Amino acid sequence: MSRVYNFSAGPAVLPEEVLKEAADEMLDYQGTGMSVMEMSHRSKAFDNIIKEAEKDIRELMNIPDNYKVLFLQGGASQQFAAVPMNLMKNKKAAYIITGQWAKKAYQEAQIYGEAVAVASSADKTFSYIPDCSDLDIPEDADYVYICENNTIYGTKYKTLPDTKGKTLVADVSSCFLSEPVDVTKYGVIYGGVQKNVGPAGVVIAIIREDLITDDVLPGTPTMLKWKTQADADSLYNTPPCYGIYICGKVFKWIKKMGGLEAMKAHNEKKAAILYNFLDESKLFKGTVRPEDRSLMNVPFITGDKDLDAKFVKEAKAAGFENLKGHRSVGGMRASIYNAMPIEGVEALVAFMKKFEEENA
Ligand SMILES: *Cc1c(COP(=O)(O)O)cnc(C)c1O
Repeated sequence: MSRVYNFSAGPAVLPEEVLKEAADEMLDYQGTGMSVMEMSHRSKAFDNIIKEAEKDIRELMNIPDNYKVLFLQGGASQQFAAVPMNLMKNKKAAYIITGQWAKKAYQEAQIYGEAVAVASSADKTFSYIPDCSDLDIPEDADYVYICENNTIYGTKYKTLPDTKGKTLVADVSSCFLSEPVDVTKYGVIYGGVQKNVGPAGVVIAIIREDLITDDVLPGTPTMLKWKTQADADSLYNTPPCYGIYICGKVFKWIKKMGGLEAMKAHNEKKAAILYNFLDESKLFKGTVRPEDRSLMNVPFITGDKDLDAKFVKEAKAAGFENLKGHRSVGGMRASIYNAMPIEGVEALVAFMKKFEEENA
């Protein structure tokens, strides 16, 4: 068996320990004589799994009691619709456009009401986070929406926007559990887990209780009404059982690593290795304004498309997978989520140095 260094933006690398444990439990989960994939979601064993997972994420993120934690399906993209359906009482919301995922959420919201783009970084290919300290937020906006870490462009908010008292809704798909967060600053935090937390198929939504009501837009499907899921403790229908089980294992792994403070230190150390090299390299350049750089997704270019392609090809042959940039940006992107070991980043930088020498 040989494992590559996987720099995929998502689905992405998971902790090896977690995968091994899951493999050990595949045929017989803790004496039940069956796999977690095979058991009823109403069974005692699964009830323990989901309750334990919720307890652990609450502890990791220090989630206050007046927030619900929901384990949902439909991907982050389905919440692009669920957010306005559940929150647009005045049929108006403010969106900050920092990339494709924010833009998709904004476009989806327009189906349900008036989505107002209050800031954007489209003018420079989303290579920075706009100044959000004094935005023109409509008086009657139901919420302010952000994509906190922009997976494709490699930017991250270092300061949350001043929402002028409005509810903040954040898509955190690609920075989930990468560093500590103050949950009380948000009304809704949600993300697909396949970037940093678990396998595709689970979305975790952390929602302040007063935002979970029966007062949703007419026509909202039962399944997209947060209250349906909250009232049933995420078991209104069959949840993504196996995915939740793996997320639970990842939560335990993060706890063992020292929690979110330790995760942040680990991620900063890894990111610094790569960014420091990019800043001194004569061949490779980072594409993001330095103060807005993501700890998770690191896009870079050589400035020559053919050389970029050559790099991606040779990197793959050397065991560095999925370094090709998103089709809308080109170049390269290294996603260095929680489970990417520091050795992976060091080895990548050593490979980049060698490539630079050979192609000077
Ligand atoms: C990947 C990603 C999405 C889309 O997630 P799906 O689960 O495929 O719908 C949305 N937002 C962000 C920030 C992402 O990185």
